[in-house]
Amino acid sequence: MKKILGTSLLLFGLAAFGQSKEDSIQFRKISTEILNNGKGYNELRELTKTIGHRLSGSEAYEKSVQWAAQKLRDAGADKVWLQDVMIPVWVRGKESLHIRTSAGNWKSIKMLSLGNSEGTGGKDVSGEIIMVKSLEEYDKLPAEKVKDKIVFFNYSFDQGNVQTFISYRDASPYRRTTASLTAKKGGKFAIIRSLSSALDDVPHTGSMRYDENISKVPAITIGNTSADELEALLKNQKVTAKLNSNCGMKGEKLSHSVIGEITGKKDQSVIVVGGHLDSWDVGEGAHDDGAGIVQSIEVLRTFKKLGIGNNHTIRAVCFANEENGTKGGKQYGKVAKDNNEKHIFAIESDAGGFSPRGISLEMDEPQKNQIKSWVHLFLPYGVYNFEGKYSGSDIAPLHEMGVPTAELVPDPQRYFDIHHTEEDTFEKVSRRELLLGSAVMTQLIYMIDKNW
Ligand SMILES: [Zn+2]
Repeated sequence: MKKILGTSLLLFGLAAFGQSKEDSIQFRKISTEILNNGKGYNELRELTKTIGHRLSGSEAYEKSVQWAAQKLRDAGADKVWLQDVMIPVWVRGKESLHIRTSAGNWKSIKMLSLGNSEGTGGKDVSGEIIMVKSLEEYDKLPAEKVKDKIVFFNYSFDQGNVQTFISYRDASPYRRTTASLTAKKGGKFAIIRSLSSALDDVPHTGSMRYDENISKVPAITIGNTSADELEALLKNQKVTAKLNSNCGMKGEKLSHSVIGEITGKKDQSVIVVGGHLDSWDVGEGAHDDGAGIVQSIEVLRTFKKLGIGNNHTIRAVCFANEENGTKGGKQYGKVAKDNNEKHIFAIESDAGGFSPRGISLEMDEPQKNQIKSWVHLFLPYGVYNFEGKYSGSDIAPLHEMGVPTAELVPDPQRYFDIHHTEEDTFEKVSRRELLLGSAVMTQLIYMIDKNW
């Protein structure tokens, strides 16, 4: 009995070893193909240099829709289509911020209105600045101290975390909620220290939200060095700010997400790989999230080119409107539900086109453990971190429907230096790092397609 058990264990071990060997050969084929022949880098150059930034509702975004559909066809997708999505239209327009001490002249400060913020309607709005370092400090301020003032929320991005997304999430409430908090106590507008890991003067935009029951005052952001200078000035004198801006919400519009798929040979259940096609209206949306778009298209191309032969349908989804509404992701989830489409897995790349270091897994323990059991296959590619808990916001609606979801985890050290800024340009992306991210997503999808 012992002998039979021993022999069958040995045979099982040999079969698993053979499997693993076959998989590691396939992993190598995938990465060699993408590193040698990947088109993602040139496609990112096209997207960023010929179309540029592409905020939802803009003409540039509509151009990027046609561009992405063509790239999916070029990649060999069996089917390409546009999915209707109603999206909010927010427009920035001209804007400026000046400050002055009682002794000095007006000085211009580099600034950006936060996305979704209302402006001053082209009029000057001015007042004395008061500074708080935290929301707790603000909560304690009586309304009469805030009334008619401009509130400077001077909360610093925590430089102590190795995983910078922790610092980003920690500081996010300052960007999202402070306009309504300011209005609640009668303040005129809010100035927010940017959610930035860079010690420079580049403001980082990003979306904010209004509490619908409170008047909508503007929210703007300034870079780290301007925030430091303002803090120093406020130590021993009164400082007045003057804002003039024209931004605001301009209703809704019909737009599109772009989808391409290669049909499964075994069944029609779906694996999604995606990113978001829209970007903020500054910089070029290269890391955020042109990278995720071209990486996802590359996955389809590689399956076709290597003739991997997928069991399940693999879909590359270029989601609309992630930045200021996530309407594309919501609509994709709704359509999947209405059409009773079975999704078995979804992964998003929306954390920059830097060297892949891991895959964050949002799913039940057994599925998580199965993916983690493949870690030895990923180690030669520098991918070791499977401990992250979150997956992308565009695939959150799929996750809520019970679909196991994941996100590519690139090295996070430089992302928040450039995120949502003028500096997020094609030149900041490394060809090899970008393509490696695509290789890792292709490898993971190959394993899931084969084993799930
Ligand atoms: Zn993004």
